[in-house]
Amino acid sequence: MEGPLETPDDTTIVVLGAGIGTIPLVRQTMVNVVLKRDNFKMALIAPNTHFHWPIAMPRTLVPGSDLDDKTFIPLAPTFADYPPEKFRLVLGKATSLSPASNVAVVGLIGGGSRLIRYHTLIAATRSRAHGGMPFKGLSDTLETQKSSSFGPAATDSVRSQVKPTN
Ligand SMILES: Cc1cc2nc3c(=O)[nH]c(=O)nc-3n(C[C@H](O)[C@H](O)[C@H](O)COP(=O)(O)OP(=O)(O)OC[C@H]3O[C@@H](n4cnc5c(N)ncnc54)[C@H](O)[C@@H]3O)c2cc1C
Repeated sequence: MEGPLETPDDTTIVVLGAGIGTIPLVRQTMVNVVLKRDNFKMALIAPNTHFHWPIAMPRTLVPGSDLDDKTFIPLAPTFADYPPEKFRLVLGKATSLSPASNVAVVGLIGGGSRLIRYHTLIAATRSRAHGGMPFKGLSDTLETQKSSSFGPAATDSVRSQVKPTN
């Protein structure tokens, strides 16, 4: 994440969100466009360190479930084959966009913010489950995991509230 991602001659594709909507798109665009052309780059911006597989979530929330590793899949190894000068995963959230100047302001998870200039912007920044249920990812991976009883907040977790019906 060090150093500028783009220079004035670059064609930078910025993708907001690392969910079901964007992960296949990132791969297809990297393989078919970015890796084939010299001046193309991609920045994927999202607050989650892990891909959250929502479709497994109801079963994951059942007490005694052992599906944690199928629900939260680390993102970094998914992109390990892409050269760092062509692809960057930026852990943060877009806080504002300036379409007139093609600039996104990103609040970084580690603190601070940065401006990222884009040629093309792809935004898929979420659908939500009612009432903060961790069926869908919450603000970042840690919050989603805590809420699902993977972490230290287990006593407040959703999983502890799931009861057998008979
Ligand atoms: C139990 C369950 C079962 C489902 N079954 C099906 C099914 O069978 N078929 C089907 O089609 N759909 C199904 N869905 C719905 C499907 O999961 C959603 O439609 C899909 O996840 C939406 O994907 P998305 O990438 O648009 O959003 P999300 O998966 O919500 O991803 C959004 C991403 O954007 C990131 N983000 C949020 N704000 C910002 C920001 N400001 N800047 C950068 N990044 C940001 C998030 O951290 C996340 O990475 C199901 C959902 C659930 C909960």
